[in-house]
Amino acid sequence: MTSRPVTARTLSRPEVRVLPQYNAGATESAVRAKFGLAQVVKLASNESCLGPSDSVGDALRASVGEIHRYPDPNCTALRGEIGKLVGIDPACVIVGNGSEDIIEMLCKAFLGPGDRLLTLAPSFGLHEIFPAMMGATVEKIPVTSDREFDVPAWCAALSRPTKMVMFSTPSNPVGCVLNGPQLRAICEASPPETLLVVDEAYYEYARGPEYADSMAVLAEQHRPWIVLRTLSKAYGLAGLRVGYGLASDPDLVSLLDRVRTPFNVNTFAQIGAVAALRDTLHLHAVVSATRRERQVFRARLAELERLNAWGIRHSPSHGNFLFVDTGRNARAIALDLMKRGIIVKPWAEPGYESFIRVTVGPREANNRFLTALTEILSPAAGVRPAGI
Ligand SMILES: *Cc1c(COP(=O)(O)O)cnc(C)c1O
Repeated sequence: MTSRPVTARTLSRPEVRVLPQYNAGATESAVRAKFGLAQVVKLASNESCLGPSDSVGDALRASVGEIHRYPDPNCTALRGEIGKLVGIDPACVIVGNGSEDIIEMLCKAFLGPGDRLLTLAPSFGLHEIFPAMMGATVEKIPVTSDREFDVPAWCAALSRPTKMVMFSTPSNPVGCVLNGPQLRAICEASPPETLLVVDEAYYEYARGPEYADSMAVLAEQHRPWIVLRTLSKAYGLAGLRVGYGLASDPDLVSLLDRVRTPFNVNTFAQIGAVAALRDTLHLHAVVSATRRERQVFRARLAELERLNAWGIRHSPSHGNFLFVDTGRNARAIALDLMKRGIIVKPWAEPGYESFIRVTVGPREANNRFLTALTEILSPAAGVRPAGI
């Protein structure tokens, strides 16, 4: 009699065996080493083009003497700061080791086998991976052909029992947003037993009349909800790992407290985040510089598109990134760009295999990308759009 040998794989939960791995992309140093390049720019992770406030470094240096102590497990000072900034009771604030930590907490606390989760397609990987890890069924609502939220499709999908709705606005990777009436329509279509999770990782870049005031719309709902934000993007602290959630009520926070690790946010992260949140001038400088560069970047892409040699297309974006249809295989394009020292994120999701997501960086980096893309897409033609 033969029996299958016991391996780590056979011992693992079935959900875990088939879980896709999150594609975090290549680092600058890895690309430098692999292709023997001196200068590599990374436009793949939507990091800030200006970095963090100087006050963060000062605060971190001043707190080095504290690192033999455990961090505050309740993030008291940071939650107070967030409460003040947002105008919410700190008891309704949860802090995570990045907002991805809070996405995981939400899935652990609320999702089990067979639960239905609705998200957007194309989607941010972790909006699928963590629900799938818990055995939930993930259903994705595609954006429209002009790459906006398909609100009627959302409302139709919500006519069936749904445990959780989770999407980003501005959406990653597309960059589209929901306005107030659209978000309200989705909330009102959601069954009462649906937890609403609105991921606003790019909130700071998007604020404006077209962008829903999610907290205000959700507060009308008299039901559980949470809005997620992060210090990884506009605040420039991706390496420190701090994200926060703004919840409908303290009870939701205390449920998440039960499934998180007790010291999930380290001392430096807490101290650095407080310093970053206080420097509103720096935040405004980052946001306005990014919006300006996004304009310039888009104008040059539009110029390429007008030449229309290769079928490239991009959509407007409310984030610090652009989603570009290259009209070719995106992995191949991304590899060609990498050989020229530019890291972007090729999209692998079915239906979007010709798309890359590129972060709006400093002007020189964006220009390097545009020049390289032009070369790659027209190797022999020698076509050069104006200004590149
Ligand atoms: C970057 C990003 C996050 C994760 O941010 P961290 O706080 O660094 O974990 C979450 N959601 C979306 C949509 C993002 O793009």
